[in-house]
Order: sequence, then C-alpha cells, then structure tokens
Amino acid sequence: MSKTDLSAFSLTGKRILVTGANTGIGQGIAVSIARVGGFVVGVGRSAMAETAGKVAAVGGSFEAVHCDLGDPVAAQAMLDRVWDESGPLDGLVNNAGIIRRADAVDLSETDWDDVLEVNLKTVFMLSQGFARRVLADPGRRGKIVNIASVLSFQGGIRVASYTASKHGVLGITRLLACEWAAKGINVNAIAPGYIETNNTEALRADPDRSAAILARIPAGRWGEPEDIGDAAVFLLAPASNYMHGAVVPVDGGWLAR
Ligand code: NDP
Repeated sequence: MSKTDLSAFSLTGKRILVTGANTGIGQGIAVSIARVGGFVVGVGRSAMAETAGKVAAVGGSFEAVHCDLGDPVAAQAMLDRVWDESGPLDGLVNNAGIIRRADAVDLSETDWDDVLEVNLKTVFMLSQGFARRVLADPGRRGKIVNIASVLSFQGGIRVASYTASKHGVLGITRLLACEWAAKGINVNAIAPGYIETNNTEALRADPDRSAAILARIPAGRWGEPEDIGDAAVFLLAPASNYMHGAVVPVDGGWLAR
C-alpha cells in the first residue's frame, strides 16, 4: 500500500443503513459516510429532506425510508424490504434513540417501555435481521455500529430507562460481536458524550447545568454530530476489520476523567 492509499478508510460502493438520520447525530453520521463515498439509506419517522440536502452537498447519495422504530418487528421487516427492493447492505448504524427524564420514583411504565423498545429491542431486531441476510449470502461481510452513550458506563440521574437501555446496548454489542466475529460480521459501538443535538437542547438551555457539564469535559467543548460520524466511518471501513465488541468513547475525554 502506498503512503497515499486511503482505501482502508473508504466506503466507496458501500450501502449503509442509518437509523434516525433526519437530525442530530444520525444526520452527522450520514454526512460523514457520504464524504468517504458511501451510499446512505436513512431511516426515520420525520422528513429527511435536510439530511438528503447535506449529503448531496458533499457529493453523496441518499435514500429515505420511513419507519416507526418503536415497533421492533416492523423495523426488522423494513430492513428486509430495503434489502429486497433496493439492494444488499454492507453496514447498519443503530443510532435512533429517545430519552425520558423523570425521577426514578415517578417514571411511568410507558416511559420505561417506549425507551427500551426504541433504544434496545429495535437495536437487537435490526441487528438480527441484518445478520440473517449477511449470513445467508456466503462470502458477504457486514459491519454493525451501535450508538451507545457515556450512560452505558455511568448511572446518571433522572434517566432510569435510558441508562438501562444504553447499558443493554453495551451488553448486546459485546454478545453479538462474539457470536458473529468468525462469521464476517463486526459489531462495535460508540459511546458519545455530550453532543449538540435536539436531545440535549434542554440541558444546553439551562445555564447552570450547561456550565457544569462543560466544566467537566476535558476538551472544553460540546461534541458535534460529525465527531460521532467520523468515528462511525472508521468502524464501518476496512480499517477496523479486526475490531469486535469495542466500545469507543467519543466524549471529549468525559469518561477518562
Ligand atoms: P435526536 O433527538 O436529535 O435524534 C434522535 C433520532 O432518533 C431522530 O432522528 C429521531 O427521528 C429518531 N427516532 C426516535 N424515535 C424514533 C422512532 N420511534 N422511529 C424512528 N426514528 C426515531 O438525538 P441525538 O441525535 O442526540 O441521538 C442519537 C443517538 O445518540 C441516540 O441513540 C442517543 O441516545 C445517542 N446519544 C446522544 C447523545 C447526545 O449528547 N446528543 C449522547 C449519548 C448518546 P424523529 O425525529 O423522526 O423522531
């Protein structure tokens, strides 16, 4: 390989399904994938015109698929439909996620169930559906990247169902990585810290909370969606072929502190 051969970091010709691609981190991941030549299949409930525009602006291609990921069985059926109707996938990024804030004593059963469905059960069902299709096609390889959280490692406050779901994402990442490592599928995760998205808007709008969070981030700034996108590219590209079950913090040093 010559010094300028960057093929290990390229996604040219690869089709990657990204959930929750209409905004926030999912949008950042879509743009990062497009920058290195990948084709993005973006999945979500809302309109995805903004993401399609940003992907086009960096010379990429984007297909929008509408699906409510609160229904894990429908999500798996959606992946099969995409595979049959627009072609096989090389990668899956389980990014979509929701958070419900309440003291643990007040958290409703609905807020527990909704978060666990989207953040954990759908992650498993989509991963299972993806693996079934890859394994049915001898010689095919696949890459799964799960978006976990620093709350995969910490407790947090007032986010009981979210923290449980993200600890679950960590566990399922490691289990699936072990089951599928020898079968040509890499399963890894990214643990974002505090990233500027709708998800964290309320925290950023509260001057005291915002200042306290910033003061604890060694990098001295909140993360941007493409900080996560660029790490996802690495975990989707050939450069990470020997990585299985890794959970990469992209948190400005939050967990290292
Ligand atoms: P946003 O709230 O900005 O975006 C969430 C995305 O998930 C949206 O695209 C949303 O689509 C999609 N989504 C949620 N529920 C469903 C559903 N039922 N069906 C289809 N799509 C759905 O969040 P972020 O970008 O901040 O978060 C993305 C991921 O990163 C999440 O898993 C989150 O837990 C994780 N994360 C974020 C951190 C942060 O600081 N921002 C920190 C650590 C982890 P729609 O708009 O249509 O609902």
